[in-house]
Order: sequence, then structure tokens, then C-alpha cells
Amino acid sequence: MQELTTLKELLAHPRHIVITTHHKPDGDAMGSSLGLYNFLIQKGHHVKVITPTDYPIFLHWLPNNPEVIIFTEKGEESKKLVQEADLIFCLDFNTLSRINELGEIVREAKAKKVMIDHHLEPEDFDDFRHWTINACATAQLVYDFIANVLQEPQLINKDVATCLYTGIMTDSGSFRFPTTTPEVHHIVADLISRGAENWKIHQLVYDNFSENRLRFLGHCLLNKLEVHAEFNTAIIVVSQRELQEYGISTGDTEGLVNYALTINGIRLAALIIERTDKVKLSLRSTGDFPANEICKKYFNGGGHRNAAGGQSDRKLLEVVSDFKAILPEYKSLLLV
Ligand code: 5GP
Ligand code: MN
Repeated sequence: MQELTTLKELLAHPRHIVITTHHKPDGDAMGSSLGLYNFLIQKGHHVKVITPTDYPIFLHWLPNNPEVIIFTEKGEESKKLVQEADLIFCLDFNTLSRINELGEIVREAKAKKVMIDHHLEPEDFDDFRHWTINACATAQLVYDFIANVLQEPQLINKDVATCLYTGIMTDSGSFRFPTTTPEVHHIVADLISRGAENWKIHQLVYDNFSENRLRFLGHCLLNKLEVHAEFNTAIIVVSQRELQEYGISTGDTEGLVNYALTINGIRLAALIIERTDKVKLSLRSTGDFPANEICKKYFNGGGHRNAAGGQSDRKLLEVVSDFKAILPEYKSLLLV
């Protein structure tokens, strides 16, 4: 691993740079990627953001979003850019499996790789690393990278600030998760003073539902929510048929699992969704309950202690009973 400050010299001359982030990117993935993009283009670099897959419409307003290339839509172009890059920034993920087929192309690329991330247990594929699980968002680490590592806070313009604010806002649950330290609030204050319109960003991300999405939420809360009080656990199970019935697309299920956690006393919430190719689980927990442990041990996934995900190739109802069968093992932790 090389010293991060060496990057300052590397970035002193125009380079070919690729920024990539995890599949099905969320607000932090896109906010940190486009935040870094909007910073780097001011320094004369040739920069491309490549996402492994598409991402929610409520993130398409981010500054310079039209410049993003989606690997599943432009495979050959993406591959060429990765192979010819001098530097590849890997944001908001730390194992190459999180970027699907793009992972091996990145691994083989001649470029120097820079990981900026806040997830547990990073894989060793990078040359430079700006990593800590104590950051509430990768966007916070990108801010720190620009302001303190490269010492160029003056280049945090309105576009950069808007993107980084979006990343911090979404990954910190609108500034309420335990990782929202005084330092995070100082950073956010600085971003607002540099032009991030906080009220507008909240509106664009959170008050941008389609009618169908809101009705789907109502359906899930009224008809699909199961509360297992004996385990302080709530589960929402959604079938492929329901996704189709309500015309649900990428990102429309984001945040749904959090509603289950708003019930008094619930420590663990699970959203189990039948996607076209597999069943996807999203877990959320409170306090020190290790949601990521369940995902890692049983569902080929991982994540943070309070927000984790995984998947299974088994049938929807089989996955639901697999999940329920695990709960007794965690009963003492769930009933704290
Ligand atoms: P979500 O439930 O929103 O899909 O994911 C929540 C968090 O869990 C993500 O930020 C990510 O850290 C983690 N996560 C989700 N799916 C996976 C997965 O398949 N593998 C790993 N390692 N982490 C995941
Ligand atoms: Mn993140």
C-alpha cells in the first residue's frame, strides 16, 4: 500500500481517470462518485464515472449525471476506459465482487487503484486506500480526501458540495445514525456554505415518489408487514408479481425496510424481495445487533452492523423460512 499523499503528485498532471462504485448504486455511491468527478474535472483530468448497473431516477438530477456510463449498457466502451486508465477510484465498496463483471476488468487493469470506502473487511486489490468504518458515508471520506489529503478545499464548488451533501445525507439516514458525529455536522455546514442547497436536495431525493411507489409502500405496510414480537423482529416479503403489479423499478424499494424498524421495540427488520434472478435480503438493526453477521453467515452478503444485505438462489418462501429459522439463534441479542 502506498502513502495517500503520493497521489497528490500523481494528480498534479492531467490523467485518464475512471471512477467506479458498487452495483445498484445508492445516494452515497453516486454522490461520492460525482462529487469526486466534479472535483477532478476542474484539475484538467480526463474523467469517466462508470457504474456496474443502472441506478434510481431520484439520483439522476445530480450535477453532471449525464456523463455517467453504465456498464450493462456500454460494456465495450467501459472496458476500454478501464483498461486505458492511469488511475481508478473505487468508491463505496471494498470487494471487487460488488461491481459484478467489471470487477475482474478492474483487477487486471494496469491503472493504480484507489479505494475510498467505509465498509468492513476490505479486500486487497488497491494501491492506495482512504478507508475507515467510522465515516458515516464515503462522501465524507471524499470530502476529507479533497480538503485534507490533497489540501484543495477551494475546489469544493457548488457541484462538488451538492454531490457530497447527497451522499452524507442518504448514508447517515438524514444525519441521525450514530456515525453522525460533530465533525459530520461541520462538514455538512461547510458544504452548505459552498453552495449545497440542503432543502432542495432533500426534496429531490425524498419527495420524488411516483404515485405507484407510494401506493406500493401503502400495500407493503398494510398487507405485507409481519411482526414477530417474540423476536423483536419485523419482516416484509415482496414477490416478483407484486413488483410488476405496481410497476416498481430500481430504487423504488429503497427505504422500505426502515419503516419496519420504526415500530416500538423492533430491533431487527428484514425486507425480502424476489428479484428476477435471485432473492435479495435487506436487513436493518438497532444498537449493537449485528445484521451484517446474519447476511455474511447465511446469505452470501455483508455490510454494516446496522445495515446489511445478502441474497439467495432459493425460492422466495424458502428464503423467508430460512430467515425465520435463524432468529432463535439470535434471540438473546434480539431481546436485549
Ligand atoms: P441494502 O439493504 O440497502 O441493499 O444494503 C445495505 C448495505 O448492506 C449496503 O450499504 C452494503 O454495505 C451492504 N450490502 C448489501 N448487499 C450486500 C451484498 O450482497 N454483499 C455485501 N458484502 N454487502 C452488501
Ligand atoms: Mn456508503
